Amino acid sequence: MSWRFALIVAPVAADDPRSDFADTLSVIDPDAPALSVGELSTQRGDGIFETIGVVDGHPQEVEAHIARLAHSASLCDLPAPNAAQWHAAVDRAAAECPAGESAIKLILSRGVERAATGLEGPTAWATASPVADMSGARTTGVRAVTLDRGLDSGAASRAPWLLLGAKTLSYAVNMAALREARRRGADDAIFLTTDGYVLEAPTASVIVRRGDTFVTPEPTGGILHGTTQLSVFDWLEDNGHSTGYEHLPAAALADADAMWLVSSVRLAAPVTHLDGADLPVDAELTAAMNAYLLSPRD
Ligand code: PLP
Repeated sequence: MSWRFALIVAPVAADDPRSDFADTLSVIDPDAPALSVGELSTQRGDGIFETIGVVDGHPQEVEAHIARLAHSASLCDLPAPNAAQWHAAVDRAAAECPAGESAIKLILSRGVERAATGLEGPTAWATASPVADMSGARTTGVRAVTLDRGLDSGAASRAPWLLLGAKTLSYAVNMAALREARRRGADDAIFLTTDGYVLEAPTASVIVRRGDTFVTPEPTGGILHGTTQLSVFDWLEDNGHSTGYEHLPAAALADADAMWLVSSVRLAAPVTHLDGADLPVDAELTAAMNAYLLSPRD
């Protein structure tokens, strides 16, 4: 299956009252060159993005993704996105997605730098494409290792210019962490602060089960607030479990009754081993969680 769909979005002001955005969304050939060589997204990773899971043509949790795009834009001093315009872009892209699972990406870049005229921008685009088969990670699970993120728990509030809570396009460090995890014989990584607290995985949130309570690290501590984690917590609450946000010490991971990495495309992957040690896996609960995550969610 190799299909791809792409749209250039001409961003309008956040308070633009129009309701029809058709003339701001241009379908382009996804295989043809589309970006200027002066694009700051490609030259500096200076932009933000969202990846939205799509199941049978239904884009999941669009509201939460667009809200996080707006949050990232604000942290990065990018113009506030027009939520209705991005909804229209998602709807247009979702209409191209076949049955099964796919992903929509939204990208907002600072724009193009020109020596003569300065910054032109922002630039924005949306794509839809197939996704790799995630059923193995959802059922067999993943082996994870903890990796030092090189920053302490106070870094996000002390140094907001590090953009720690923004979903920026600068994922080179996250990808390097995944390669390091593989060198260590694992499938994925969990970042820790230098003072020993749990952050997130390079492309997922961490959920830990302690008895009947499910916890995840505080999203204010320099990590992304995962849309999938939010959705899972709603579902857990609806099913009689309690959930919470904590400043979670790394030691809590080894004692977990279960652990998952959750994100929009993989959904919930149980962590079977942490730093080489076995972790308990609740296959039944994981299957129910993934069945929920595959159902239409708004
Ligand atoms: N944390 C990071 C660093 C991520 O890249 C992602 C998703 O890509 C997440 C958390 C999970 O976010 P979501 O559940 O919204 O996909």
